[in-house]
Amino acid sequence: MKQTTLRKEVRCSGVGLHSGQKVEMVLKPAPADTGVIFSLLTKSGRQVVVPEPGRVVGTGLATTLGTERAKVSTVEHLLAALVGLEIDNVLVEVDGEEIPILDGSASVYVYLINSAGIRVLDRPREIARIKRSLVFEQEGKRVVAKPYNGLKIDYRISFPHPQIGTQNFCFESTPLTFSHRIARARTFGFMKDVEWLQKNGLALGGSLENAVVFDDYGVVNPEGLRFADEMVRHKILDFMGDIAVGSHRLWGHFEVSCSGHDFNNKFMRYIFDNQSEYLDFVALEEPASVSSCPDPVLLPAGVPAWA
Ligand SMILES: [Zn+2]
Repeated sequence: MKQTTLRKEVRCSGVGLHSGQKVEMVLKPAPADTGVIFSLLTKSGRQVVVPEPGRVVGTGLATTLGTERAKVSTVEHLLAALVGLEIDNVLVEVDGEEIPILDGSASVYVYLINSAGIRVLDRPREIARIKRSLVFEQEGKRVVAKPYNGLKIDYRISFPHPQIGTQNFCFESTPLTFSHRIARARTFGFMKDVEWLQKNGLALGGSLENAVVFDDYGVVNPEGLRFADEMVRHKILDFMGDIAVGSHRLWGHFEVSCSGHDFNNKFMRYIFDNQSEYLDFVALEEPASVSSCPDPVLLPAGVPAWA
């Protein structure tokens, strides 16, 4: 359970979901105890943003981190990839205000991190582990958090759409399970919302290249879905990114129902504001628990949800 970083720097470019503008991002190795730090190129030079629950300044469409001087949007898929592949320390340089949306999943970040390689550092990894069960609930959204040696997420979504309905997914995070089961799941939205957003100058970079879009009947994307239950898997990806804004990697068993970026952040603020009650900060010698989730049904890429 030592800390890790990247072996070398890697870079990519792509459009930002909000602005539609091209942005470039570089991931660089960082020393032990650095954590994940964003270095943003602004008009007044480089500004640093360190993730904290209280530095989430926007949750519409995506999660935005910021200070008075700088902000960076759409951080959640990258942060999820860093948690999923167990990378502790990295400097993220961005030449704009958004992380590139790429294909709307974390698959390119996983590819980049694997291309860079992982360096194990000579410093123990400290975990924030849920020490007491709690139910955090508001307006039909719910996170139940329980003590657990690892990161396990049971997620449930329910959308009144004929091709989504209710989906459940149980996920125990390891680098392998994250890469195979969660990283490729894309963000999704509805045609009527996309039209409204783009008319109002929002989600200008959103397209069928980086999101699964539903009309009233089914999936608009000609290639269909990557998994029959891609939507609930993507919600797990978002949750992993949204709980990665704490000072430490978070361990626990989370049963999540109908949450989103805003509620995920409210949950994080609550447990970190009350950390003496809910969190143990421990440097663990032993590896995490072995998976206790059933194997998901695997369908070939492109099979629509209703197949
Ligand atoms: Zn997402």
